[in-house]
Amino acid sequence: MSVLLKKYRTMRDFGETPEPSGGKPKKTKGPIFVIQKHHASHLHYDFRLEMEGVLKSWAVPRGPSYDPTVKRLAMMTEDHPYDYAGFEGVIPEGNYGAGKVIIWDNGTWEFIEPGDDPVKALRAGKLTFRLNGRKMFGEWALVRIHGRSPKGNEWLLLKHRDEFANEEVDVTEVAPLSIISGRDVEDVNPDRIWKSNRPGAAKGPPTIATALRKQATTKKAAAKKSAAMPPQKKAPSAKRGATGRPTAKRTEGKAKAPRRTAAKRR
Ligand code: MN
Repeated sequence: MSVLLKKYRTMRDFGETPEPSGGKPKKTKGPIFVIQKHHASHLHYDFRLEMEGVLKSWAVPRGPSYDPTVKRLAMMTEDHPYDYAGFEGVIPEGNYGAGKVIIWDNGTWEFIEPGDDPVKALRAGKLTFRLNGRKMFGEWALVRIHGRSPKGNEWLLLKHRDEFANEEVDVTEVAPLSIISGRDVEDVNPDRIWKSNRPGAAKGPPTIATALRKQATTKKAAAKKSAAMPPQKKAPSAKRGATGRPTAKRTEGKAKAPRRTAAKRR
């Protein structure tokens, strides 16, 4: 049992809370990420990256933003067990983090830089990585800052400039629901819910991922065709896809995203 989970375990009474105590074997190839929308005393988004056999965790009060000029505060919290990635449900009153939790997004992640060791980069306080989820993808970074907290646990989560960067779409607003149950955090099933940790296994409602991905592919193709022409500012088509299920569903079959196929094969 990982020594990294000691703090996590001492903070919880597993006779009381439906959260996992940890120790379930890992099922996927490649490191996973999960973002849980958690309505405790305040609503926040728990961003978790699998590293060293556990989930390195940050609480992001305002959630992620695709706008590269926006930096979101991310408070590093205790390492969580790998199987926490499958938790969606209610943490009972009187327990640490009491409140409702949904799985807002999940998938796999790849370390980009600096160097070739993500653990080392984490310790040094800066890492760049690629997310391949249903709402989150493209290049992101976590950077430790010298903030107000004496704990030294303040980081910033930010979007790097790439074909997925988008200043107009607020992903937390257009895609608020669980990718597992299709419920928002307030309506989460109070019964303990366990689902597969395998990314892509979830049969939730369609999300904006497909629409955004399609938009990015179109942008890329357009840029290739006329490199001389300045980029056009288009109305964010993702907004349509995210709010209305049918649109997202329609794009699902058409979108030719090689990444998607790769994810399915896992
Ligand atoms: Mn939390």
